[in-house]
Amino acid sequence: MERCAIDACLFSLGADLPWCSGYEAMPLERPTVLVLPRDEEATLVVPILEAPRVRTDERLFTLRSWGETEDPIAIVAGLIGKRRSLAISDRAHASFLLSIQGQVPDASFRPASDVTGPLRAVKDATELAALSAAGRTADVVGAALLSGEIALIGRSEAEVAREISDRLVAEGHAKVNFAIVGSGPNAASPHHIPGARIIKKSETVVCDFGGTFHLGDDIGYCSDTTRTVVTGPPPKEVANAYDVLERAHALAVKAVSPGVSCETIDRTGRDVIASGGYGANFIHRIGHGIGVEEHEDPYIVEGNADLLVAGNAFSIEPGIYVQGSFGARIEDIVAVTDDGVVSFNHTERALHVVEA
Ligand code: ZN
Ligand code: ZN
Ligand code: ZN
Repeated sequence: MERCAIDACLFSLGADLPWCSGYEAMPLERPTVLVLPRDEEATLVVPILEAPRVRTDERLFTLRSWGETEDPIAIVAGLIGKRRSLAISDRAHASFLLSIQGQVPDASFRPASDVTGPLRAVKDATELAALSAAGRTADVVGAALLSGEIALIGRSEAEVAREISDRLVAEGHAKVNFAIVGSGPNAASPHHIPGARIIKKSETVVCDFGGTFHLGDDIGYCSDTTRTVVTGPPPKEVANAYDVLERAHALAVKAVSPGVSCETIDRTGRDVIASGGYGANFIHRIGHGIGVEEHEDPYIVEGNADLLVAGNAFSIEPGIYVQGSFGARIEDIVAVTDDGVVSFNHTERALHVVEA
């Protein structure tokens, strides 16, 4: 907060609150706010009916539950006091921010990620262990996909997505955050929502899935991995594009090391895809940080000159998308070590033909 000249943080919805307090707010309309002043002890303002869920720890914060007819905004404004440089959760409801602004009209607000982003981007050993366990768990599902244990041909994308989701939970994820299954031309839509389309023979199927995994009693950390399979001998163009993609992925991962800039990693993968003739078909950044949230700092993208440090964890996920025809993506979560890189996903990356 000192570095950002912030007098107090207001952590509401989103990952900052569980990351620093262990408590996750319900994403409902009643405000939950951790008021964290730079110069004083923190107070967690919680709806009284949710107070029983709070594990109180006086070292961290004082609990102030508010009754159904009390005004939580007035309570928060009272705790803010005379402080005027405030940071608020990026994912707080706009209605909450607007009410607070009504009470402290001369305050200035910044996104809390200005304060927490750089801190959350560097994982400690416990966080890395949780991400590694989450990755291992997702890999079990990835291996089932590659081996043909998860049937594809003749089933709808939605059915396959449901099976992937069920398996993520069966393997130990507390919840599923997404399960993208894009087949045939739908594979060219990176964030495709799986639907009624029936998967046919000899087409690419992009499966991108992840959830939240808890190691013991700790807060949850995310998994996020993508494998692309083909439901029959791949057409020449698909095999060629996949070969380019696999090389781009491998080289980008290999380039990860402390002191290398985020944009260098993106460029490394992108150059391979461009020289393979698919530069215009790689339409997104190569990766995103991951932790308590599935997308967070550091973003591995052109324009981000920040240098990697040991403890950064992020995805490497190049993709090639040919509209109306096919698509492919490979995604692993990696972490920066003291002298290189470690991968948290180990499912095979070679193109697998799944005739099931
Ligand atoms: Zn994505
Ligand atoms: Zn993904
Ligand atoms: Zn991702």
